[in-house]
Amino acid sequence: MARIVVVGAGVGGLATAARLAATGHEVTVFEQAGTVGGKLGRYVHDTPAGAFHFDTGPSLLTLPEVFHDLFEATGAKLDEYLDLTPLDPIVRHVFPGGGPALDSCADPAEFAGRVGAAFGDRAAADWQRLWRRAARVWGASQRDILRRPIDSPLDLAALAWRLGDLAAIAPGRTLRGLGRRHLADPRLRMLLDRYATYTGADPRRAPAALVAVPYAELAFGGWYLRGGLGTLADALLTRCLDLGVVVQTGTAVTRIDAAGGRVHGVRLAGVAAPVPADVVVANVDALTLYRDLLPSPRRLAGLTDRSLAGFVLLLGVAGESGLAHHNVFFPRDYDAEFDAVFGHPGRGVRARPASDPTVFVTVADDPAVRPAGHEAWFVLVNAPRHGTATGAVDWRRPGLADAYADRVLDVLAERGADVRDRLVFREVRTPADLDAATGAPGGAIYGTAGGLLRPANRGPAAGLWLVGGSAHPGGGLPMVTLSAQIVADAIGPDWG
Ligand SMILES: Cc1cc2nc3c(=O)[nH]c(=O)nc-3n(C[C@H](O)[C@H](O)[C@H](O)COP(=O)(O)OP(=O)(O)OC[C@H]3O[C@@H](n4cnc5c(N)ncnc54)[C@H](O)[C@@H]3O)c2cc1C
Repeated sequence: MARIVVVGAGVGGLATAARLAATGHEVTVFEQAGTVGGKLGRYVHDTPAGAFHFDTGPSLLTLPEVFHDLFEATGAKLDEYLDLTPLDPIVRHVFPGGGPALDSCADPAEFAGRVGAAFGDRAAADWQRLWRRAARVWGASQRDILRRPIDSPLDLAALAWRLGDLAAIAPGRTLRGLGRRHLADPRLRMLLDRYATYTGADPRRAPAALVAVPYAELAFGGWYLRGGLGTLADALLTRCLDLGVVVQTGTAVTRIDAAGGRVHGVRLAGVAAPVPADVVVANVDALTLYRDLLPSPRRLAGLTDRSLAGFVLLLGVAGESGLAHHNVFFPRDYDAEFDAVFGHPGRGVRARPASDPTVFVTVADDPAVRPAGHEAWFVLVNAPRHGTATGAVDWRRPGLADAYADRVLDVLAERGADVRDRLVFREVRTPADLDAATGAPGGAIYGTAGGLLRPANRGPAAGLWLVGGSAHPGGGLPMVTLSAQIVADAIGPDWG
């Protein structure tokens, strides 16, 4: 049995803690915030009509098997804790120009039929060709990448890819390039491009292998958790406590002690005595780890390509809008949005809020999250991260957040979802707010942007492990849960 400290109670931290406790280790989680869940955040707004409940982060759960596996590995059944509801449509895509919307679903033949009905037979055939390729990429990535540690480019290169897999993965090609090659209809290309943002990236630079992301969503389904996705954080916390994990909120870790090539423990803010540990699992962003907690200039140097962030509106809305659970309203010029959000630091072009962004709106048809006769809208727009660098925006600049919230509501109105005269209240969450609440540097959601090679799970000192969205295999709830599995398996029951 080892003494294990987990730094951070995001989904990755809690999932690792539960797995390690289930194998007999003594586990303590230190979380700087007052609550657990990290980016899987929640907000409740009381009004005379009743309470509105919002998820402030994730709204879509994919790859449910990963969560079933997690609960099973800790001696429990997921269904006893969470109420998974399949979504159809998973996402309603609304394109510029007023043509038909496209509803995605988890039945590939049905979805191809919907593509054909909306955009014609050629588009359906294109999609099916892309889908077959995506299936091969998915098969290869989940076999060779998603469930095992990848410590270096050499590990990636050494994988025994089958030739067919390599042809499908197309190293060197971008997701945009893949769309151009397979999809004649610009609306389908937009749909494909959007999946780059699931990893915080620009589709013009993200690898074609990210075609595995829509495959995972559309093959295994998109799910809602009744009561909100935040119930996942409650369930993980309960599992941890039942297994004897000590979870200490309101406790920031300021340093990881390492000497002689191995970790010895952590230091807590405002506490003089060190906390000894045989193993430290860092669920903080890799940038925070290598810049602040265990400075490592070499590892830090690889973390420059930062992920995009998100600008969020939480809206209390009177009446009913007839929207789907998830709705994407695309802009006329998708590239202009990516140009704005990432800027071009190399050419001195500053990032800025996109004036005509894609708008993602979630409206859960769940009486548990809104008063009768009302809706709780979660509105998300891709945004530059917070900061003063060329590739960032100072979201604390007076008036900016409110002015941009007005702009986003105007854009929604232009695209047929005018909610301005039905607002009961509106709350704004900028990338600077996400940074302050969860310690994500600049509010970058996924650490570094896209790419198959993320910071390794194995840290530079023996006994130090990285888990969560900024580390391998990447961000999003299922990926961080897989990172927990990789790390817990690597530590094993017999460490120390
Ligand atoms: C707006 C938004 C929408 C999203 N939508 C989706 C979606 O629909 N589907 C999906 O699957 N994913 C989505 N994601 C991504 C998903 O939320 C994240 O990938 C995932 O929750 C990250 O988990 P994590 O384990 O990396 O930990 P994090 O959530 O990053 O948690 C890290 C924890 O560490 C704590 N911490 C930081 N520094 C310290 C310190 N020094 N000491 C102690 N504790 C510390 C933080 O407070 C935090 O609780 C979304 C994210 C956002 C922000």
